[in-house]
Amino acid sequence: TTRVNYNGFKANVNLGGKIPLGLKRKGLRIVVTGGAGFVGSHLVDRLMARGDSVIVVDNFFTGRKENVMHHFGNPRFELIRHDVVEPLLLEVDQIYHLACPASPVHYKFNPVKTIKTNVVGTLNMLGLAKRIGARFLLTSTSEVYGDPLQHPQVETYWGNVNPIGVRSCYDEGKRTAETLAMDYHRGADVEVRIARIFNTYGPRMCIDDGRVVSNFVAQALRKQPLTVYGDGKQTRSFQYVSDLVEGLMRLMEGEHVGPFNLGNPGEFTMLELAQVVQETIDPNAKIEFRQNTEDDPHKRKPDITKAKDLLGWKPTVPLRKGLPLMVADFRQRIFGDHQEGGS
Ligand code: NAD
Ligand code: UDP
Ligand code: UDP
Repeated sequence: TTRVNYNGFKANVNLGGKIPLGLKRKGLRIVVTGGAGFVGSHLVDRLMARGDSVIVVDNFFTGRKENVMHHFGNPRFELIRHDVVEPLLLEVDQIYHLACPASPVHYKFNPVKTIKTNVVGTLNMLGLAKRIGARFLLTSTSEVYGDPLQHPQVETYWGNVNPIGVRSCYDEGKRTAETLAMDYHRGADVEVRIARIFNTYGPRMCIDDGRVVSNFVAQALRKQPLTVYGDGKQTRSFQYVSDLVEGLMRLMEGEHVGPFNLGNPGEFTMLELAQVVQETIDPNAKIEFRQNTEDDPHKRKPDITKAKDLLGWKPTVPLRKGLPLMVADFRQRIFGDHQEGGS
């Protein structure tokens, strides 16, 4: 017998080796929460190209219809305006759970809403996964390592996180989301997958989300000085979005729960990043130092041995290759067709 789950009707049926007409699956049915956002929309593009049916669930807090508009009219695509803090009834095979503001400016805007999204939102999507027997992937973050005392960060490291700081709604929220995922896995047999994503950049990032790559690129294009916070010696590792999407899909399709670090181990100080932006956009761009924000992690670099060994994944796009792709998109969105101030 085969277990079938067709539009909510679950059954063990003897199909005699044949799938009856009407039950034949054309691709998978997949929910992407946060699918109108930066990472989510790139993931949706890959799933649609693979032939899956995709339902995007998004409240448009930071996401934009423009990011998925090119799929409107395709019968395999649906877009639902919905806040994951509220329960949701759907029938699908897989849930990619990305809904959550990701940039510090956005997640600090309403910290209580951020933590509700991480905790209640993730609980709802796990409850959904449990009810329909769907596989569930959580996009956690390198921020679960806090201001790390181990470098580079391995998945077995438990982190150094401030529970009462201004970042806690996000990093403690994601830690709780990971806990919930593991408890639904152990307690309710939900097939879960956990990705810990390191800083990712690429086309469709919000232009004014305050993240360092989007800030520097927008500033250089607008002929404004690049704002380096603190002494600029803090480090980050920047991953191009297509590498991340490939990693997320391998993780979802594979047999390992994780958590897996997904990031590019190439480590840059913020001053080095400013230099790469100067080389790419405008060698004469000025640098301006600003006071750093509270609780800013000093360094961050993923150890990706586990993802290499178990998922056969590693990033392939270095910063100097990926940045120009993002610059082209930002140039288009900032200046439109006329290149005022652009070069
Ligand atoms: P994003 O802000 O572009 O996308 C998040 C999406 O979630 C947006 O479309 C937003 O409207 C939606 N959303 C937010 N709250 C919601 C809610 N309550 N209900 C429904 N939808 C909601 O951010 P992103 O960079 O694409 O991040 C996607 C995921 O990846 C997030 O979970 C984030 O924490 C994680 N992540 C991203 C990075 C990165 O560098 N981009 C790093 C680590 C983790
Ligand atoms: N939930 C949901 N969609 C579903 C099933 C559950 O949104 O299809 C929500 C439900 O409202 C609840 C949460 O997920 O708040 C956890 O559900 P679960 O069944 O695990 O727990 P319980 O409802 O027993 O507290
Ligand atoms: N940063 C900076 N200039 C900016 C924005 C950020 O120097 O205009 C620094 C910030 O202090 C941090 C690093 O860049 O050390 C990465 O910040 P971002 O907000 O992009 O991501 P996160 O802190 O979540 O890694």
